[in-house]
Amino acid sequence: MLHARAAMSFTPKKSLGQNFLQDEATAKWIADQIRPDGAPLVIEIGPGKCALTQHLTGRSQKLLLLEKDDELAADLKLWFSTKPEVEVWHGDATRFDIRPLFQYGGVKLVGNLPYSMGSEIIRHFLTPPSPVSEAVFMLQKEVCQRLAATPADDAYGALSLMVQQDWCVDLLRIVPPEVFKPRPRVDSAVVRLTPRPPGDLPVYDRRLFDRLVRMGFSQRRKQLKKLLPESPQGWEAAVGLLNKPVTVRAEELSLQDWVALTRHFEGRHEQDRGQRASEVFDVVNERNEVIGQSTRGEVHAKGMLHRAVHIFVFNKRGELWLQQRSHLKDVHPLTWDSSAAGHLDAGEDYATSAGRELKEELGIEAPTECVATVPATEKTGMEFVELHRAFHNGPMHYAPDEISTGGFFKIEDIASWITARPEDFASGFIECFQEWQKKGIREKV
Ligand code: SAM
Repeated sequence: MLHARAAMSFTPKKSLGQNFLQDEATAKWIADQIRPDGAPLVIEIGPGKCALTQHLTGRSQKLLLLEKDDELAADLKLWFSTKPEVEVWHGDATRFDIRPLFQYGGVKLVGNLPYSMGSEIIRHFLTPPSPVSEAVFMLQKEVCQRLAATPADDAYGALSLMVQQDWCVDLLRIVPPEVFKPRPRVDSAVVRLTPRPPGDLPVYDRRLFDRLVRMGFSQRRKQLKKLLPESPQGWEAAVGLLNKPVTVRAEELSLQDWVALTRHFEGRHEQDRGQRASEVFDVVNERNEVIGQSTRGEVHAKGMLHRAVHIFVFNKRGELWLQQRSHLKDVHPLTWDSSAAGHLDAGEDYATSAGRELKEELGIEAPTECVATVPATEKTGMEFVELHRAFHNGPMHYAPDEISTGGFFKIEDIASWITARPEDFASGFIECFQEWQKKGIREKV
């Protein structure tokens, strides 16, 4: 596909995992697996000499090629210079900023990956928050088996759990070394990853899950009770919950078991549920003066005016931390929102509420300052909003029943994302963001 010079004189680099696919039928089959037709954006990692690329061009609205090799990237740029729908980015894919991609509303990712970089590429593109809605990768067979494994498989381990907590993994096909040049020493395989549906697992503390899984698999043949920290209420209580013997090992616990164990360590014993309709708020008049109190359920059902605070948390680069609201929220579930936000409790002032929300939702303590106000309209959910700002570089230890994921975003990326896909955001956040933008503040520590 690439022009003759590259095809003839190119010496493959082992350091970049350059085993080029030679078999047309396999290449077309892999390209088809990502279902590119009509997609807003398909990204190919490591297009190389275009084995897959030639079966992807002209099918999606935009095709973005990420290639690290200097020579190949230069050739690709030249080759596709007359095709405006194809963009070539020259660099290490694990350095590519994925945050501007949210505005495409679901990115498809495909690649015959450089095998030594497989895990890093997966971590970079698929760790939440990720704009990817589907991924198809070719990797060495052993890694694909680890990605897709369940407790019944030898390949089952920490990688399986880390990926499967967010992605459903299907091993699609084994590919023999003969179809590559130069030939790799091992078999390859193709996997498809699709997002695990929200609410498929009960909520849990991701940081703790990661820690427990890593500890549990650090010596996979050893009994878990000797590897994990002291369990609240004792180890018998923990394994009793899972219906497992006290001698259980890490590899005998399913993803669901690991989540249940994490929740047990957190002391999270109640079933997941959204906010309580019985919470009591101040009700206000059109001048934002308190005129009484009512329950959350009644305030929302009757559209009564009330108060809320939003907090924008900025890091030292002036990026704004956005949260994706939990699927458990009664309004705007799974939309993107201010770093933290919430109603004022009865009798509470805005500043106190801002500090409380930072602590409850993000697990941080930082001074806040009011930077804007937004009047109550349907867009704010009949809330008089004070917008506060705070500075914190992360990490956030966010409440998983309030927030499904979150991250720092550049202001210009948020602005173009709102323009392209306002439906991705809670309407109250858009009001706050626009009000903040009008003030023309550039947030820096
Ligand atoms: N897609 C081509 C094919 O199927 O024949 C090439 C696949 S080859 C296994 C891996 C490709 O990834 C090579 O083109 C290599 O230069 C490129 N590559 C290696 N490391 C990379 C990285 N960190 N970021 C982007 N591309 C990379």
